[in-house]
Amino acid sequence: MALIVQKYGGTSVGTVERIQAVAKKLIQHQKQGHDLVVVLSAMSGETNRLVALANEVNDHPRGRELDVLLSTGEQVTIALLCMALEQQGVHANSFTGSQVRILTDNAHNKARIMGIDESNIRTALANGRIVVVAGFQGCDEHGNITTLGRGGSDTTAVALAAALKAEECQIYTDVDGVYTTDPRVVPEARRLDRITYEEMLEMASLGTKVLQTRSVEFARNYNVPLRVLSSFTEGGGTLIAAEDPTMEQAVISGIAFNRDEAKLTVLGVPDHPGIASQILGPIAKENIEVDMIIQNTGQDSTTDFTFTVHRNDYQAALKILQNTAESLNAREVTGDNKITKVSVVGVGMRSHAGIANTMFETLANESINIGMISTSEIKISVVVDEKYLELAVRSLHNAFNLSQA
Ligand code: ASP
Ligand code: MG
Repeated sequence: MALIVQKYGGTSVGTVERIQAVAKKLIQHQKQGHDLVVVLSAMSGETNRLVALANEVNDHPRGRELDVLLSTGEQVTIALLCMALEQQGVHANSFTGSQVRILTDNAHNKARIMGIDESNIRTALANGRIVVVAGFQGCDEHGNITTLGRGGSDTTAVALAAALKAEECQIYTDVDGVYTTDPRVVPEARRLDRITYEEMLEMASLGTKVLQTRSVEFARNYNVPLRVLSSFTEGGGTLIAAEDPTMEQAVISGIAFNRDEAKLTVLGVPDHPGIASQILGPIAKENIEVDMIIQNTGQDSTTDFTFTVHRNDYQAALKILQNTAESLNAREVTGDNKITKVSVVGVGMRSHAGIANTMFETLANESINIGMISTSEIKISVVVDEKYLELAVRSLHNAFNLSQA
């Protein structure tokens, strides 16, 4: 019998009625002849509620005790779902992360999965049970409860699918798939039937948040077919899988964007070896993530250096950079925290010339100025003023014909 891992997110189990609806759905899937391993999130809002409680009694709740607290959200939903299934005459067993034995490292609040013991799950499946596993949690080698970082239930589901060699890992959520871009910006955005792991990773890291990024990396590393579907409407969703050489690829799969960017520039720094690390070292030391980096070719033995950070880190980065600039004898520091990043993503780019040109021409036709450009093998990103974001995304979506299948 084909084994499928299904994950239901917080909104899909957000009320008792919804849990009952999930139970009904599972019974149908079981009748179709599937062995089912189901991973659940906590009820929507529950993990936030627990974090807020922790904050009431401690200024910086973290570590072991926070994990003991946060893991309770998922324990509630797995028990309720099993009870709802029993009520409808179907046998099910719930398992917390440590009951399965999802072994993680001991990095509390952001633990990594090291191994999964299949035996308890296999036994329950062999007894005809639906297996219901708490997402987002595991235990370290000493039995301490750990959690995998926010959104970690996706990663639990993929890891289980990999360990059990499931036919597919299905992520049921409140959207019905992955779109060519955000439909709130472009109403004609189209659901993709299929997208590669690499494209999904680019889209996810660029702000198209459907899945925890780590779960997509995991799926790619273990070649787990991953499908995003709606818990509320019927439909095939979007399959995230390896590139299929027998299928013709769309050149561009989607337009991703990231609203909350900021850029910083230091002008007139002496152009000598080590300058980049002198500028970025202090930024990295404060755990500020740097995204795009540009250094101009030097002139008069000085150069200009620009990089982008998340908008939340702008003030902190600016302060650090001003200090560095002073000690380096640079001319000036400037910044702009009203910028956004727009990217076209597609594996087809590897074999098609002219994508960048189409992108730049499209933006030029709309008189949108490009502040910075960066590229990878399957992505071209530009920085534009935030007031042109919608226009940029819409015109690019149009230029690459993304509303037509
Ligand atoms: N409940 C956890 C969270 O809200 C894990 C998850 O839902 O994936 O982050
Ligand atoms: Mg989620």
